[in-house]
Amino acid sequence: MGSYEDNYLAMRPQELCNMCGRCCRVVTTSKSYEELKALQAENDEGACEFLKIFVPYPSIEAARAVDKELVDNVINLLIEDGNYDETKMTFYGCKYLREDNLCSIYEERPVLCRHCPSTPWSIVPPGCGFEGWLFLKREEAKQKVRKAKEDLLELKLLKTKNPTEDILKKISSVEHKIQTTIDMYKKYGSYDW
Ligand code: SF4
Ligand code: SF4
Repeated sequence: MGSYEDNYLAMRPQELCNMCGRCCRVVTTSKSYEELKALQAENDEGACEFLKIFVPYPSIEAARAVDKELVDNVINLLIEDGNYDETKMTFYGCKYLREDNLCSIYEERPVLCRHCPSTPWSIVPPGCGFEGWLFLKREEAKQKVRKAKEDLLELKLLKTKNPTEDILKKISSVEHKIQTTIDMYKKYGSYDW
């Protein structure tokens, strides 16, 4: 049994990365640049780590000039989800990415890079080696919720025949499990349940 870090990385086979460098060259966050700077001023660890390596592009057009497909893909996905706000949109590029697409601080790269893609709903550049892995992980998460919903139906059926305290507790527990899973993944961008 390895460490949490080893297990986390083992779940994201690093050999899937084709080292195109696109996720380092043009990225964005769910928070605006202003929000990130405010969090940085409060010493928020995630914001500090992010702004230590990423430099904002002066405009969306400037980011588009670097990777049009990636920028348009992100914007279109946000529009589809009804979450696009141009005034809050900033793209960033990492100052440690080398011309040959390799990371110049690979061994010391921050946790946010080591843990990428962080959730099954992470948006990666088109053609990223992790696309298939992300699809699989999203399906696994959805299957778990579907199975829990089936269990819930069975329990509710049992309740109609035999409404014991034990059954009521189980129903409440399964409902809680379903809702917390849905809420967690909604936080990461899943609106598809
Ligand atoms: S976009 Fe995907 S394949 Fe390209 S460097 Fe990033 S993780 Fe690797
Ligand atoms: S630190 Fe390295 S891995 Fe992280 S974004 Fe920059 S170039 Fe990519």
